[in-house]
Amino acid sequence: MSKAYTAARVEMIEQPEPPQARKEEDVPILFLHDIERHYRQGDETLHVLNGIELALWSGQSVALVAPSGAGKSTLLHIAGLLEHPDHGDVYIEGRATAVLADHERTRIRRNEIGFVYQSHHLLPEFSALENVLLPQMIRGLKRTEATTRAVELLEYLGLGARLNHRPSELSGGEQQRVSIARAVANAPRILLADEPTGNLDSTSGSDIMSLFTDLWQSGRTLVIITHDPALAKRASRVVEIRDGRITSDHVPSSS
Ligand code: ADP
Ligand code: MG
Repeated sequence: MSKAYTAARVEMIEQPEPPQARKEEDVPILFLHDIERHYRQGDETLHVLNGIELALWSGQSVALVAPSGAGKSTLLHIAGLLEHPDHGDVYIEGRATAVLADHERTRIRRNEIGFVYQSHHLLPEFSALENVLLPQMIRGLKRTEATTRAVELLEYLGLGARLNHRPSELSGGEQQRVSIARAVANAPRILLADEPTGNLDSTSGSDIMSLFTDLWQSGRTLVIITHDPALAKRASRVVEIRDGRITSDHVPSSS
């Protein structure tokens, strides 16, 4: 375990306890340590993330709340090993990831992480069903098993009549639901969702909240970027970001 990791553990004492009591030696499943990200714009540097420190244990769900442009998507991409930070590191179950080779990062991403992109990123030439079953097959599931699971998820999300539609034949909200089905199809231990209910009416939004709640109650870890207070309220922690730092990390009020 790196020194930085141990030092940061000490500072994490003030973070709320997860629902289940945890043993002191338990390692967080996802640990973002001193994350910085800066973008060059001509002569100027835009400091988007300025030292984000966040540890998540198994079974926790975090609603990430911040104004538009605050760096939420950037942080989620870094947490999902889709981007490298300029400083700091992402630890998955105590394992530093910056030093890993690309194929190792890809393997972790494929096996441990589900990602719901803000702009769905579905494969345009494949149907809704194929978009959901492909990641399962890449992971080694047989086509029949993958299909059963994909159909089940898509039906649950109200897309039973859209299985063979391509993304261009689906509405924004439908594409969003396919993208959610794809992200959860492999039952990832870590699910990262970037405004997953942004394009949905309140009924679909509520189904998705139930799906997410099931996931974290079964011991998975979720980070959800959301502007939806109803969704944030169901998370175990609400984390707010301002000026590139975490300014609040609290248990949502039950009122
Ligand atoms: P949020 O998801 O909170 O709305 P983002 O993480 O998408 O915010 O972006 C944070 C800031 O970083 C924004 O001001 C955005 O313009 C800037 N930004 C994001 N990606 C890039 C990039 N590739 N190059 C330059 N600036 C970027
Ligand atoms: Mg965003």
